[in-house]
Amino acid sequence: MTRIHALNMSETAWKEWCVSEGAKAFLGSQIIEWMTRKNCMDPMAFSNVSQSLRARLAESFDWSLPAVDTVLQSDDQSEKILLKTHDNLFTECVLMPSENRVTLCVSSQVGCRMACTFCQTGKMGLSRNLTRGEILAQIILANRRLIERNDERRVTNIVFMGMGEPLDNFDEVVAACEVMLDERFFALSKHRVTVSTSGLVPAIEELGKRVPVSLAISLHSADDEQRSGMMPVNKKYPLSELKETLLRYPVQTRHGITFEYVMINGVNDSIQHAKKLVKFLHGLKAKVNLIPMNPHPGTTMVATDPERMRDFQKYLGERSIPAPVRYSRGQDVSAACGQLASKRKNELALAPRTVALARRKEWLDSRK
Ligand code: SAH
Ligand code: SF4
Repeated sequence: MTRIHALNMSETAWKEWCVSEGAKAFLGSQIIEWMTRKNCMDPMAFSNVSQSLRARLAESFDWSLPAVDTVLQSDDQSEKILLKTHDNLFTECVLMPSENRVTLCVSSQVGCRMACTFCQTGKMGLSRNLTRGEILAQIILANRRLIERNDERRVTNIVFMGMGEPLDNFDEVVAACEVMLDERFFALSKHRVTVSTSGLVPAIEELGKRVPVSLAISLHSADDEQRSGMMPVNKKYPLSELKETLLRYPVQTRHGITFEYVMINGVNDSIQHAKKLVKFLHGLKAKVNLIPMNPHPGTTMVATDPERMRDFQKYLGERSIPAPVRYSRGQDVSAACGQLASKRKNELALAPRTVALARRKEWLDSRK
């Protein structure tokens, strides 16, 4: 029988298990504290638990973490961590330390089924959802990386902007967010946990009711026809429905809702597009992150040039919409990285998503 993973157990389930073993219920909460606050996945080290119960914990649950397959280090201090799951699938998270925060970009699925045309993960399709435990494991592994780097800090901010559409894996993502926000566990501020979505309207509505996290919407176009072409989800949930839901969303941050806008040369980057964007944002407290399109193999789309981007930004700024340009961090991971050279030498020149795609192919081939 496969054992349930320790990180997939809810607090209630832990308490019930402890009671069923003749222990006090509160020990259940302390077990989660060991994993989340102390990054400890070895029950034999749980010093406040009796010897016999430690042994029972060790034999009854799975305590493993996804394997760190490859770490791609960037000149800007960020690290892309490629993870291999127990069933040999590849996913990624990106650790981005900066002066006043340590942000971790986490994945919620292996692949994604939303099929946005500009996105490399979208091309993979969906392999499977990650469990809450596999989402939380990314924080534990990132904190361990910080320890290895002699960085005394721990992850302070989470963005769900890795692989996958978090709201397409709703229950697991909400359960993971609850552990992130709980002051006994990861204790992250609600301003600092951001769920990014392509716009699954009913799930956005539900998210607002379930857990107080910050919201980012991947908009990329405020024109229905164009957005439907770029993001099939828009055919099901057009801009008018999205806006109606956002107007009701319980906003957690000072700047309101963040909108991600990938700037694609000659596609969505004219002043006409900016005008439509301003119209869409009317009535919402919004910030727009302008992200130069990250090119990848198999697409002809490239980033808008900086001057055109500045015009777009200026147009928004003059209408009181903050629109910082955000460059994806760690773009230079093809830079030399001694640690990895021996293991995944040929892959150092590739973006992690490309690596993940290649691995998925390996995995599919191995099943033939
Ligand atoms: N599925 C969620 C979260 C993961 S994608 C979402 O779409 O919001 C995280 C962000 O990366 C999204 O804003 C997405 O639009 C953006 N993105 C995808 N492909 C990109 C590319 N080629 N260049 C720049 N940003 C990209
Ligand atoms: Fe990519 Fe996000 Fe679209 Fe999925 S929803 S294909 S991860 S941009």
